[in-house]
Amino acid sequence: MKKLYADIIVDIVHMALDRCFQYEVPEEIAADAAVGSRVRIPFGKADTLRDGYIIGLTETPEYDPEKIKKIESVCGDAVPIESQLIRLAAWMRETYGSTMIQALKTVLPARRNVKTVRKRYLVRTAEREQCGALLEELRRKKQKARVRLLEAFLEDEVLPYEMVVHKLRVSPASFAPLEEMGIFRIQTEESYRNPIRGLKQETSSIVLNGEQRAAADGLIASWEGDRKPCLLYGITGSGKTEVYMELISHVTARGKQAIVMIPEIALTWQTVMRFYRRFGDRVSIVHSRLSAGEKSDQFARARKGEIDIMIGPRSALFTPFPDLGLVIIDEEHETAYQSETVPRYHAVPAAIERCRMAGAMTVLGSATPSASSYYKAQNGEYRLFQLRTRAKEKSVLPSVEIVDLREELRSGNRTIFSRRLAGLMEETLARKEQILLFLNRRGYAGFVSCRSCGEAVKCPHCDVSLTAHRDGMLRCHYCGYEIPVPRTCPSCGSKYIAGFGTGTQKVEAMVKKIFPEAGVLRMDMDTTSKKGGHDAILSAFADGKADILIGTQMIVKGHDFPKVTLVGILAADLSLNSGGYESGERTFQLITQAAGRAGRDSLPGRVVIQSYNPSHYSIEAAASQDYDGFYWHEILYRRLLHYPPVYGMLSLLITSKEEALAERMAGRVKELAEELSWEAGKDEKGIELLEVIGPAKAQIARINDHYRYVIYAKSEDRGMLLELKNKIEQIEWDRHVMYQFDMSV
Ligand code: ADP
Ligand code: ZN
Ligand code: ZN
Repeated sequence: MKKLYADIIVDIVHMALDRCFQYEVPEEIAADAAVGSRVRIPFGKADTLRDGYIIGLTETPEYDPEKIKKIESVCGDAVPIESQLIRLAAWMRETYGSTMIQALKTVLPARRNVKTVRKRYLVRTAEREQCGALLEELRRKKQKARVRLLEAFLEDEVLPYEMVVHKLRVSPASFAPLEEMGIFRIQTEESYRNPIRGLKQETSSIVLNGEQRAAADGLIASWEGDRKPCLLYGITGSGKTEVYMELISHVTARGKQAIVMIPEIALTWQTVMRFYRRFGDRVSIVHSRLSAGEKSDQFARARKGEIDIMIGPRSALFTPFPDLGLVIIDEEHETAYQSETVPRYHAVPAAIERCRMAGAMTVLGSATPSASSYYKAQNGEYRLFQLRTRAKEKSVLPSVEIVDLREELRSGNRTIFSRRLAGLMEETLARKEQILLFLNRRGYAGFVSCRSCGEAVKCPHCDVSLTAHRDGMLRCHYCGYEIPVPRTCPSCGSKYIAGFGTGTQKVEAMVKKIFPEAGVLRMDMDTTSKKGGHDAILSAFADGKADILIGTQMIVKGHDFPKVTLVGILAADLSLNSGGYESGERTFQLITQAAGRAGRDSLPGRVVIQSYNPSHYSIEAAASQDYDGFYWHEILYRRLLHYPPVYGMLSLLITSKEEALAERMAGRVKELAEELSWEAGKDEKGIELLEVIGPAKAQIARINDHYRYVIYAKSEDRGMLLELKNKIEQIEWDRHVMYQFDMSV
């Protein structure tokens, strides 16, 4: 029998990960040695026994086998959380392609900073009545920041300092006078261990309605049963959070822990406070503004069992809870759940895998589930629960209308505002209410479309829009097909064919010209690049310092603007043509979200969707808030064109400073993939079981002087894609070439 060697890491901290050590696995323990196993090893000159973890096994020693030490023993005790996270890293490496070190760095906590920041809280000391009276006075004086603070104090006696400053946006300068007046005092965690003590007893006054009760009972039964992943599909405001909390309290009462993932942008103070109020100080949060040290502190508390519930964005998934029972992914359709760095894992499959290892359950929630998740729910891979009605009667859905921009053009209106939208803007300004103008930025990549018939110029083979390049060519980023930019529309012959390029600045200039009196704020990369720019703009708008806010994706999520009664979506099509198979889905979600910003309070809202393509199913379905209609159309398209979730898709990005080299390697991969495809054969209709597309230049063909090539493979058989990925990894890659996988399953 061949000897087995193990790569072992000795320290479970970020910094130490780049160094692993190879040990021989003695035959008698080989059966117990697996990736993730905790082992005792002789370490250093003195051969002191230390703990380590196996991160890889191989039969090829890295250096002289005579000099390789032997593992002393495998620790057979209860599997520590580290082992589980290491196995999760191994799964990520395998599924998404990366090095083991990159995967480990993703799942294991960063090194703990020596200095940790003490948590501070604002604790109300004045009576409710006094606060109420003061609130009235402050409202009269229009001291908006202080009003927000007092309103919060009337709801909660104790407010975390960070939340007051960052989420409530009340500066220390503006709350200090209230402290002097004896309204509250500031305390640190030490002097006030249980920051939510006063609230904990206040059991939720909310009684689940029938629909919510049924969903909660179903989820609890699933949890008590096979713990199959579940999808909670509930319209906005239907009370998904209440249902999550009901399930969490069932799970934590049984001694297990829960992770609640919320996209960073939606992680508002109000949401977090609802969890605090229900679960008290057994809750903690991680988010991107925490330092590495603060984050690792929170993770340490989780490991020690000081908390049961962790709320946070993608990285919260790696909270080292020893006995995880539940992972909830709210707004599971959000693109933020996909990592942008290698390994490019997606939080949903990663959560499902972690839960599988831990014997826990994953619950996905959304008002507009991703096509992929809804497909799996229809398939029975997930269990589906539905909430069809809003929990609170009074909030009404906004009225939505679609304006056909081609009609506008025909009537001689060449501005970016339709007559309908301009008219409503005027009315809204006259009523002193606020307007959001939403510009879809995803389409910026520069497709070319006809302003007469609305058609974008598409690839004849792939049904995606061609993208304009500086060299005057239109290219398909899936297969490499290219043509020169046409002078007339290929569909209708009109000469009004042009690239889109309307930026937020241009919109701002237009608004100022038409409505010179209106106060305008603009939010985009330029205006928010300064630190805090983002929050400053939003709070200025929330405080009524402007009448109109113009922005991109950033303005459609997370924040509530009760005075906004009109939302204009300027060119809803832009994202339709962004050149990926998911563009219809993204468009539907963006419009649905943008529309949801209108009339959130008591004022009724209106939404105007301007489009060159008003009968596109994504736009029509979004306007009528018809998720199911959208979904069935979308899934049909995916099935016809062999896209995920019906088919699995592996994409590979190959980059190099030397273009010829990148191209050559892409060619190698293509050869290898075709070989595999040939072996796989065809189905009865003559369609290849493994389809290979490309190679082609990537959407951005060069970044930082690195040339980029892409190649895609599609198959219903996910195993085949994994096999292809593994074979690609085994190619002898030139060290001047880098590659990166993206797997959609
Ligand atoms: P979602 O997460 O589905 O958008 P939320 O859980 O945020 O919905 O609920 C929307 C609002 O309705 C919240 O203010 C919540 O407190 C309230 N709400 C939810 N369920 C109930 C209920 N059963 N009774 C009263 N109010 C409820
Ligand atoms: Zn193509
Ligand atoms: Zn045309």
